[in-house]
Amino acid sequence: MRKLISILLSALLMATAFSLCGQAAAPAASGKKLSVVTTIFPPYDFVRAVAGDNAEITMLLRPGTESHSYDPTPQDILKIKNCDVFIYGGGESDEWVEGVLESTDTSKMKIIALMDCVDVVEEEIVEGMQDEEEHSHDEDFEDSDVKDRPTFADWKGDWQSGYPYVLNGALDEAFEHKAEEDDSKTAEDYKKYYADAYRIEYNRIVIDDDTITYYTDKEVAKVKYEYKGVVILLNKSGQKRVRYQFQAVGETNGAPKYLQLSDHLIAPGERPEHFHLYNNNDGFEKLSKEFDNWPTFYPSSMTGADIMAELKGHDHEEEYDEHVWTSPANAKKIVQKICDTLVGLDSANANVYKNNTSAYIKKLDELDKAFKDVVKGAARKTLVFGDRFPFRYFADAYGLKYFAAFPGCSTETEASAATVAFLIDKVKAERIPVVFYIELSNEKIADTICEATGAKKLLLHASHNITRDDFRKGLTYLDIMTANVDTLKEALK
Ligand SMILES: [Zn+2]
Ligand SMILES: [Zn+2]
Repeated sequence: MRKLISILLSALLMATAFSLCGQAAAPAASGKKLSVVTTIFPPYDFVRAVAGDNAEITMLLRPGTESHSYDPTPQDILKIKNCDVFIYGGGESDEWVEGVLESTDTSKMKIIALMDCVDVVEEEIVEGMQDEEEHSHDEDFEDSDVKDRPTFADWKGDWQSGYPYVLNGALDEAFEHKAEEDDSKTAEDYKKYYADAYRIEYNRIVIDDDTITYYTDKEVAKVKYEYKGVVILLNKSGQKRVRYQFQAVGETNGAPKYLQLSDHLIAPGERPEHFHLYNNNDGFEKLSKEFDNWPTFYPSSMTGADIMAELKGHDHEEEYDEHVWTSPANAKKIVQKICDTLVGLDSANANVYKNNTSAYIKKLDELDKAFKDVVKGAARKTLVFGDRFPFRYFADAYGLKYFAAFPGCSTETEASAATVAFLIDKVKAERIPVVFYIELSNEKIADTICEATGAKKLLLHASHNITRDDFRKGLTYLDIMTANVDTLKEALK
């Protein structure tokens, strides 16, 4: 009898298998679960909610680790290459993704960038916030921070002029991009401006300890230089700029006698991505008044396309904020996109995905309403973060104002004294009851502000990632955000 049952069972199983094969759809039809790979926690949790047991879901980020410093291992890359659906953020933390996808056959794969699912906004530098590019660059620095660079050590190597690329059209895309950002100038205006700025007769220079060899199409001069100190100038917009001065020793064969090197750095020991070589034969006084011609040199290993990309990306503020999931309304859009994608790949389970999704979206609506209710009844609308600020979409969704030490994806952990002082003053002046920190933070800045003001330190969890423990316990995005509702209530009292 037992034997008969087992024969029947296997016959039944085979029949089931055959009938599944008959139902067209892709991987799931062959009995294999859909495999979904995500970078960070929120989409991992969303897929779990939509697919239930019907997908094999992998989160690449290890629980408990920082998402912004994540680098894929070879195994991670293999998982991406072999999955059916790959979901990533699409912002500055994911710059590595492009390279991996370029070397992957993605023809049978669905790829979702969270930032493509919603309307994105730019990362914002609000009052008091510290821009991460500030510290070693020639913006907003103290004169006493400027250090001598008495040798060519930081500039040693083989460099090419950007000027030929302005002329041959390789940089046109960057000029068009700049014109789009600035209504007062056309791409043609930018091209003229850069042609004047970059103009120099040498296509290439090779820098050694104390010499520069100049090339046109052939070597034309090798000149020895002596350091003549550093100057701090105001440019036409009134911003301070630092130039390092060098004067030729002996014969120059027509090459420049006076040089001012400017690379946005104000101390030795860092390798610049490019530098500007102010030059003349008339002396430093006249050179210090030169603001229109600043020949620019890039490593000779760069292609025209590389230089275009660097020129285009030169304005650091243009980064779009990648933390789109912090607004429940955005989470809904992402969940719907995940649902549509899974349905498209695995029609056999379409109803499961659709039912799970509508149940989940109902919960996101409740969450959204809970936040709205808190804000509606609140005594204040201002949040203070002694930390990075990944809640731009959240704050926008609920009409909240915010102050924070750094923008969302800053890799900084040490705030300047000015930033900390600003936040302390803000908390005192507005009698802010709560200072926030975010998950996996060292909490140092929040501690400092709380000590100085008596404010309470609380976690507002952005759910980039969760701890190992919470991961094992099955903590969800909804759990995290529901806890945030209570925290927010306390902060807006
Ligand atoms: Zn520059
Ligand atoms: Zn982030």
